[in-house]
Amino acid sequence: MPAATPVDPYQRLIAITRSITQVMDLDLLFDSVIDAAVEITGAERGYLLLLDPDESLPLSERLRVGASRQLEPDEIEHSDFHASRTAIMKTLAAKCGLEWADALSEPDPSQSVVMMGLRSILCEPLVHQDKILGVIYLDSQLTSRFNEGARELLPSLAAQAAICIENTCLVGEREEALRREHAELAYRDAMAAFMSIASHDLKGPLTVLKTGLSVLRVSGADRGLLVDMEQALQKAQRLVAMYLDANALQQDGSVNLTRAGLELRSLVEEEFTHLKRFLGSRRLDSFEFINRVEPDTLVWADSDRLRQVLANLLENAVKYAPDGGRVEVRSQSLENQVVIEVADQGMGISEEGLARLFEPYVRVHDTDVRGSGLGLWIVRRLVESHGGRIEVESQEGQGSLFRLYLPKRVGH
Ligand code: ADP
Repeated sequence: MPAATPVDPYQRLIAITRSITQVMDLDLLFDSVIDAAVEITGAERGYLLLLDPDESLPLSERLRVGASRQLEPDEIEHSDFHASRTAIMKTLAAKCGLEWADALSEPDPSQSVVMMGLRSILCEPLVHQDKILGVIYLDSQLTSRFNEGARELLPSLAAQAAICIENTCLVGEREEALRREHAELAYRDAMAAFMSIASHDLKGPLTVLKTGLSVLRVSGADRGLLVDMEQALQKAQRLVAMYLDANALQQDGSVNLTRAGLELRSLVEEEFTHLKRFLGSRRLDSFEFINRVEPDTLVWADSDRLRQVLANLLENAVKYAPDGGRVEVRSQSLENQVVIEVADQGMGISEEGLARLFEPYVRVHDTDVRGSGLGLWIVRRLVESHGGRIEVESQEGQGSLFRLYLPKRVGH
């Protein structure tokens, strides 16, 4: 029988590279890479270790096992780790390959080398565009030196593997982002459809209740009870109006405005009064409401819509201030615009929250405070429909300041 022709190691590397570039599943990719590394070097044991990019962690805590051969995958955190931690750390720190031949006869062999009788070790970092993704670790108790061909091939394999890992991760991240975006869109559509149906359905019974209340008022029912019921009804009607607004804005983005020159100071005063009515006496005592709007400040706006904007901002200023504090509205007249500021001393908003604050259904805090995350989105759309804009300044735990720019006169 003719002797089998030895496989050219370079041909083998090309074949391996071709096969790993086709693997799209990360775990399979790690397996293929460590199999290939073990095969071309003839090592008995091997690890493919991945490095967490979070540089604030100590190096030893950043490693996790991607794949292993003849080594326990879950040993990495244990003190009885059966590979040479020293060799791995040195490779990561130097960002280049390391070879320990005749490891046992080194003048000062590492503890693991002595304990496990390791005769040779090869380590190769996985580097892509100067970013270190991990390391391939191989060792042997049988041979005191891996053959030269194998040592030459390992860096090429590691370079190819690093490219494949980075690409597969990128594809995975993109797929995950798309999946999240789809899920969010589907959720928003479902919410919008539900709120539209629910709001239309609720409008009827709320109108009946309103009529019933006027009848009760005439017939001399208990005043206190009537006030409570009227307030509850107003709140329910505001909520329904908000959901219907949200739906209309989502459908065609338009708002019909009937504008007039509105006296801002009295409007703010009315909204303060309205808000105070809904606060229980204990909560009310914890707040100080200050109206610093200059008298005779006129804003060119739709009365109902401007009230809605102010009501929403003031309601939030109270809702997200569990310890109370000062709620202040002030204004400044510019040439063509009025700047309105609503400031509170509440829980504030994180930087991450600020970035998404005006998007629909976004809620920033994980609190029991109820809400839909639609209010600020509608506020922004209403302000923009007036040709204005809204800004916010806030820091977590430091209160918030919402600033509106609205036109003063027709055409501005
Ligand atoms: P909702 O109050 O219904 O959740 P909003 O759109 O009015 O919806 O507000 C979105 C989120 O922004 C809130 O859930 C809250 O986390 C945060 N937020 C709004 N206003 C304030 C504020 N004045 N202080 C702190 N956080 C606020």
